[in-house]
Amino acid sequence: MDRINPATGEQLDPVETEDEADVERAVERASEVYPEWSGRRMEERQKLLARAGDVLRENKQEYAELMTREMGKPISGALSEVEKCAWACDHYAEKAGEYLADEHIGTEPHADAFVSYEPLGPVLAVMPWNYPFWQVFRFAAPTLTAGNTGLLKHASNVPGCAQAIEEVFREAGYPEGAFQSLIVGSDLVEQVVEDDRVRAVTLTGSEGAGRAVGATAGEQLKPSVLELGGSDPFVVLEDADVEAAAAVGARARTLNSGQSCIAAKRFIAVEEVYDEFLDAFVSEMEALTVGDPMEEETDIGPQAREDLMADLHEQVEDTLSDGAELRTGGEPLDRDGFFYPPTVLTDVPRDATMSCEEVFGPAAAVYEVPDEETAVDLANDSTYGLGGSVWTEDLDRGARVARRIESGCVFVNELTKSDPRIPFGGVKDSGYGRELGEFGIKAFVNEKTVWVQ
Ligand code: NDP
Repeated sequence: MDRINPATGEQLDPVETEDEADVERAVERASEVYPEWSGRRMEERQKLLARAGDVLRENKQEYAELMTREMGKPISGALSEVEKCAWACDHYAEKAGEYLADEHIGTEPHADAFVSYEPLGPVLAVMPWNYPFWQVFRFAAPTLTAGNTGLLKHASNVPGCAQAIEEVFREAGYPEGAFQSLIVGSDLVEQVVEDDRVRAVTLTGSEGAGRAVGATAGEQLKPSVLELGGSDPFVVLEDADVEAAAAVGARARTLNSGQSCIAAKRFIAVEEVYDEFLDAFVSEMEALTVGDPMEEETDIGPQAREDLMADLHEQVEDTLSDGAELRTGGEPLDRDGFFYPPTVLTDVPRDATMSCEEVFGPAAAVYEVPDEETAVDLANDSTYGLGGSVWTEDLDRGARVARRIESGCVFVNELTKSDPRIPFGGVKDSGYGRELGEFGIKAFVNEKTVWVQ
């Protein structure tokens, strides 16, 4: 598999691709080890997960640098990402037993009926490159601890991360086959989903990939979780702390160089504060440092692949042709690597490209609306429904507006973020199912009813 350092455009050492026979062996191992692994006591699996968290912390610098080399994430974000994976391990190492404890329904005295949460078997994870460690750990930490085994098909531009993650579990002491990376392209995914030994699949990525994998899973009657794109609204109401909204908004748009499913993408400000918000937001965006992702002070690194940067630029240009105004940015930087500057567009029509498509890069669309009602209407005028953010000093109002936004989560006076303790996922074309928290560990279990009379 070819790997290109997006900060320089230079080729890294290629990683050997596996073939169908390798995949067959991996699926067989995942299936063979499953009875022994799922038969272990929960406490034992929790202990191993805690150890995986330790391994992550011990090798934090190495893993962070690997991510930065393969996909260009600024190093400060890469270091935090490894920490966050370790946190997810700690969380489920502490909570998995509680989350999956039997639930008694209350049918006594006639009989005792309870729900026993039991694993399903080998689960396939098809994962993207944008958070190459975090996306995998938020699947693997709960799913393995529930007693399943895991197969990872990682994105083709981060095979080194895929191998390193397999190594984390090996070093932590997991049995051979409990977690394996398949170094393959997406063309082999269908046959793995169709394999009888594989019991479920989860995918994080684009809508197209989600539809393909979801269709195969449906045909095979296998459970699936799909975490797809987003076009999250960031709503600034007239009673908001506008300065804070602008500062957090700029961060929310540009986290991970703008390549995040839950990045704020459509900024909707009511007219009383629109000018103030726009000025502050543009200043915040312009103040961000674009540069070498290995430097601690870099805020925005390169886009992960050349084709992705070209797609982003096309979206910006199409939106300008649709009638929008450019406030800052708007042209790829003239240097080696795939760098795109913080970009802000205003007067964006509702049917313009950036209003309708997911924009995976540091380009923001800003809208002016007359009032709260129109803000909510515009926020919901999207085929996506992943996250959202609402800014107001009136917390009751914030919660009320949050309930009206059609998405998997809404944060009031905060940017949308994932956290091991709370459920994460979307509605509409952003997918279905939930990761993280108690919901995440229950995504791939058999909720078995046991009736004892
Ligand atoms: P993809 O959705 O193509 O890649 C995500 C994962 O899915 C990769 O492992 C990929 O494998 C795999 N995949 C792709 N197509 C299929 C398929 N038909 N069947 C099975 N697996 C498949 O994302 P891209 O990297 O091409 O990025 C394109 C756009 O997707 C981005 O601009 C962004 O809008 C969105 N995206 C959203 C993410 C999110 O977090 N929601 C994450 C990444 C991208 P392979 O790499 O081998 O092709």
